Amino acid sequence: MTASSLRRTPIVRCPTCSGDSRFEPANPWRPFCSERCKSIDLGAWAMERYRVAGPGDTSESGPTDDTSQDAGPH
Ligand SMILES: [Zn+2]
Repeated sequence: MTASSLRRTPIVRCPTCSGDSRFEPANPWRPFCSERCKSIDLGAWAMERYRVAGPGDTSESGPTDDTSQDAGPH
């Protein structure tokens, strides 16, 4: 006897809220549990990316010590 008639929905853990998420075609936000969790995850990813392309240091402090001593053995 097979119990295939009893269809069980695979439950995965939502990466955002660590809650139960239905991993099925009916859930367009899988593996997330809801649209909100998916948007939060994408937002965090975008923020991380924006962080990398942030404004760097604009201080022009270079070792411009160009004082060459002319110490000739003369
Ligand atoms: Zn969630």
